[in-house]
This record gives sequence, C-alpha cells and structure tokens, in this order.
Amino acid sequence: MISYEEKNKILSAVCIEEVIGDFVELKKSGLNYRGLSPFSEEKNPSFIVSPIKKIWKDFSSGKGGDVINFLMEHERLNYVESLRYLAHKYHIDINEKVGGISFNEKDRKRKQQEKILYLMQDYAKNFFVHQLFLTQEGKKNGLCYLINKRGFKMDVIKSFELGYAPVSWTSLTRNALKKGFKLQQLISSGLTSYRRSNYFDCFRQRIMFPIHNLSGKIIGFGGRNIDDTSRYAKYINSSESSIFKKGEMLYGLFQSKRNILKENFCYVVEGYTDVMALHQSGIKNVVSSSGTALTINHLRLIKKFTNNIVIFYDGDYSGIQATLKLIETILDHHMNLRIVFLPDGEDPDSISKKYSHTSIRSVLIKNSYHFISFQQKIYEKFYLDDPINKSCFTMKILNGLSKIGNVFQKVFFLQEAAKILNLRKEFLISELYKMQRKKQNLQKKKESLMQKIPVKRQERKKNCLFKQDGSPLLLIEKKIIKLILIYGHKKLKKEGGTITIGEKLLQFFQKKKQTIRFLSKKHEHLFSTVCSHTKNKKSLLDGKNNEPVHSLSTWNLKKMGFSYDEDHIEQYLDDLLLRYQSLYISHIIKQKMDHYIMNKNSDRKFFLKTIMDLTHLKNEILKKLHRYV
Ligand code: ATP
Ligand code: MN
Repeated sequence: MISYEEKNKILSAVCIEEVIGDFVELKKSGLNYRGLSPFSEEKNPSFIVSPIKKIWKDFSSGKGGDVINFLMEHERLNYVESLRYLAHKYHIDINEKVGGISFNEKDRKRKQQEKILYLMQDYAKNFFVHQLFLTQEGKKNGLCYLINKRGFKMDVIKSFELGYAPVSWTSLTRNALKKGFKLQQLISSGLTSYRRSNYFDCFRQRIMFPIHNLSGKIIGFGGRNIDDTSRYAKYINSSESSIFKKGEMLYGLFQSKRNILKENFCYVVEGYTDVMALHQSGIKNVVSSSGTALTINHLRLIKKFTNNIVIFYDGDYSGIQATLKLIETILDHHMNLRIVFLPDGEDPDSISKKYSHTSIRSVLIKNSYHFISFQQKIYEKFYLDDPINKSCFTMKILNGLSKIGNVFQKVFFLQEAAKILNLRKEFLISELYKMQRKKQNLQKKKESLMQKIPVKRQERKKNCLFKQDGSPLLLIEKKIIKLILIYGHKKLKKEGGTITIGEKLLQFFQKKKQTIRFLSKKHEHLFSTVCSHTKNKKSLLDGKNNEPVHSLSTWNLKKMGFSYDEDHIEQYLDDLLLRYQSLYISHIIKQKMDHYIMNKNSDRKFFLKTIMDLTHLKNEILKKLHRYV
C-alpha cells in the first residue's frame, strides 16, 4: 500500500496535462487544454483539461475527474496502480508497505520478479541493438539484410529498436550472467534455454523485434531468421511469462497509439515487418497481433484508443481466411470495420514499396470495403456463381448484420445487403428475425440449464429487430418515483415563493403528458396514485405528512438507499429529469427505427427528418446536462 504522505508527494509532482497528453492530443485553449474525447467518437474537441483546477472533463461522454480518475478510466488501472504509474513517470521512489489484503508477501515477491524480468528484457534489447550496429557480424548479417534486402530505412529501424542476435550459442547468456542476472531468471524470461546441463541462447542469428507494452517497457521479442533456406522457423517469439502474454499485447501499439488517437482508426496487419513498412510509408496508426488470431483482449486494447478498425491482412489465401474469421468477432464488439482488399493480392509490405508516401493513403482508402462488399468481392473472385455458394454468402451477411449494434448502421447495411444480394429488404428482415429468435431461444435454454430451472413460457414480447434496452430508463423512472415518495414534501425556492419537489415533478409530467409515458405500468400507477394524493392535498407532498401513504408502503423504501446529498437535491432533480428526457428520446428513436424497417410503405424522407429532429433535441438536452460542470 502507498502511504498518505507518498500519495501526496506523487500528486503534487504531477502535471495533469502532461499525463493526459501522453494519451490525448491536447491543444492550449485559453487557460485550459482541449482535445478530442478518447472515450467517444467526435469531430469537435470537447475534452477539456484544466491545469489550474487539476481536473478534466469530457463533454461528449460525460466523464470527468482528476488525474487518477483519468488513468482509471483510460488505462483501466486501479487506484494504486494509477499512483504507481505516476510515481514511475515522475521518478518518485515509493516504499510500498507490505500488509493488507491487496499487497501481501506473495504479491510483493511477484512484483519483484516482474521487475527483474523487465530489467532483463531491457538488458537484452540493448545487447541486441549493440550487436546490430556495432559488431561486424551484426552489420554484415543484420543491417545488410534489413536495409538491402528488406528496404528498411535507418530511422524506422531505430524507432522500433531492432537488434540482432548473433550466431553464437551463448553470447547473450554469458554476458547477462556476468552482469549479475541469475540463470534461473534468464530461463524464465525466455531468453535462455537449459538442456543436459548446458545453457544456450534461445535467439540466434536472427533480427530481433522488441515488443513493448503500452507504457513502452520491453516485455518480449520476436526474432526473424535471416536465412530463408534455414531449417529453423522463420519467426520465433519469447515464451510466455508473467509480463509477456501474446493474447494481450499488440505489436506496434506503443509506437502507434498517439496516431491511432489522432486518426481515430487503426490498421490491423499480420506481422512485425508489415507494421514497420507502413510506418516507413507514413502510415503510423497500425498494429499487429504477430501471427496469432486477434482475440477479444486485443480488441479491448484497441478500443481504448479507437472504435474503428481497418483490417489489412496479406492478400493470400490464409490472409483472406483469417480476415473472414475476424469479421464477426469485430462486429460482435460493436466496432466499426473496414477491410483493405487489393486487387493483386498485395500485402502491407509490398504495397508500401509500390506507392509513394503521398499516394499510399488514398490507395488504401480507395481499396477498403465494408464487410458486405468485401465478402462480395471474395465470393466473386473465388467462387463460381453457384446457388449454394450464394446462400452460404447470404447467411454470412445475415450473421454479420445480426451483430451490428448501432441502429443507423443496421438500417443502412440492411439496405446495402438487399441491393447486393438482389433480395427484398423485408425478406432479409424476416430471416434476421428468425435467426435472432433462434439465438435467443438457445440463450434462454442455456440460461435455464445453468440455473437448473425449467424454461418458463415467457411473456411473448413484440418482436423487435433492435435490442430494446429499456433498463436505464426504467432505472431513472424508479429514481423519480423514489424521489417523489421520499422527498416529495421538500420545499424548493422558486421565483416568488416555494414549490415542493412533488409539485415540480407533477408539473413536469403534466406538461409532457402528451409525449412522455412511464415505461413500466407499475411506475405509471404509483405516479398517478401519488399525484391524486397531491391534488387532494392530503398527501406526503404537502409538507404536513412525511409518512408514505398506506397504498405505497409495499415499495421498499429502505432498500432504495440514498446516494445523493440532501443539500443538492434540486440539482439532482434537474439532472434526473434531463437524463430522463434524453433516454426517453433514445427510446422513441429506437421505436421509430423498428417501425420504419418493418413497414414497406414507410416514407424515408419523413423518417430521416424525424430521426434528425429527435437527435437534435436529444443533443440540446445533453448540452444542458453538462451545465453543472
Ligand atoms: P516477412 O515479411 O519477414 O516474411 P511477415 O510478417 O510477412 O514477415 P508472415 O509469414 O506473413 O511474415 O507472418 C506474419 C506474422 O506471423 C509474423 O510477423 C510473425 O509474427 C508470425 N509468424 C510467422 N511465422 C511464424 C512462426 N513460424 N512462428 C511463430 N510466429 C510466426
Ligand atoms: Mn506477411
């Protein structure tokens, strides 16, 4: 644990704009700094950092707080990890005390071992760099290969900290032992092997690609054989350790993260050299999962920086197969996806040699497709116009469509699919229903099996193409009811007198009666009961009676604990009503969408206009919501 004094020492050394500036491109704007929100997609910067107040606020997502909150939100660190991160950044030594549940002896030992692993990887990187640039063998075998055979320039070789592992079987291990590292530690770091009482270096006669974690520390290596005729594998990687987990790291993310934030999209390529080749061509928002399939953890990592992915795999058979497999996973995570498909089966390495710095960007953009047209291209190219293939293709498209979360995208992709497949939109929708129903049933069965409860015949809900998520709205409804029940009598100041919270709520809902209805019947009933009491002036709302009326006593007041401060109740109420309005509009938008695609005769123009009006209204409300900050 970090002591109170140490915490203060760290926080007083911190410069908030510097810390946040490592993740978000910030520009000075008056007394503050401004940048694009790292938590949402936006065109106009609404992310503000105040160096004076030492706080940040993101107006597009509503998030905000101090520097620790930022690290917790953005880097997904916990409180203590955030402090450790800052201590490291500002070179402050901290003596974490042993004790407590979260930091016991075992944890301390593990931390100590990890520290040594990091040190060792760093030592190895410097060793390999030295070999590449300063030894005859390195220059002749390594640099020559990289520059002459692969066409890499010195600056990119240096910025990726490439190195060379010599042909000798023991040189790294011997040197590291001399430096004081222990053999056991070298073995667990994946740099040294030990067999039949002999140790030897794992990487020999290879170009070394150090792999960085997000904060720039080396966690492992990839090594490429420079001899393509060799019987050894083309690439080998460090074995997994507590600091190196292949499924949780992306090659190039450290070098690319700022540009990913800036460009707000990220190319995903297959290999180490692809990342470097694109960087050399000026495309610096690119990562690679280094030959392993992209996992959910990889996607989460990317999501920290952007929601937009462009897959750019090799144009050969295995690259295309890997891309096809990835499409659904990415859509499933509600990320926006495009796929680069080049006519001559080129890969990132070859394309970066073929086009100049200035033209490569537009070539890539021109040749990137959304998932439907990409799949169409593949089927046109590789499969004859066979009905069975076409039905398989249709199923794939439907599967993809069922994963899309954003309602607008869903509508537009549906229209696109109908055009490409030459099928009626309504037919696709009904198939999509069937598919979703099947999935839901499967899910229900699974859940009931898990709970060992027989499947109940559930109330048949109206079929809905888009996920109806009424829960946040229901939650707010509940809060409103809670407020009126418990604080309904509380008086608030008003121009020329006072008004109770109950009366204020009543006025609000009476004014909006035509447009706003509670989602839950129970809430509607409760509210009207309370209202009738208010009107009859014999209720908890007139300030004379603080006891809940009998008919409402089933509502478990104690369970509903208060999370707000009584002094700020008016602000809380205003906030609640604004949030309620904004969620209610989202709810209406979803309903309109459903209605639009379910009805053949819908008027498209009218539909778009309504959606735009509603969105505008919602934005106005969201703007108001930020006024307290
Ligand atoms: P190069 O341009 O040097 O041939 P590449 O990156 O294009 O490299 P690919 O064969 O396309 O190489 O492989 C893509 C990635 O897959 C590599 O960068 C590497 O991370 C991983 N990889 C390839 N072969 C192996 C292997 N034999 N063992 C482990 N990983 C491998
Ligand atoms: Mn390749």
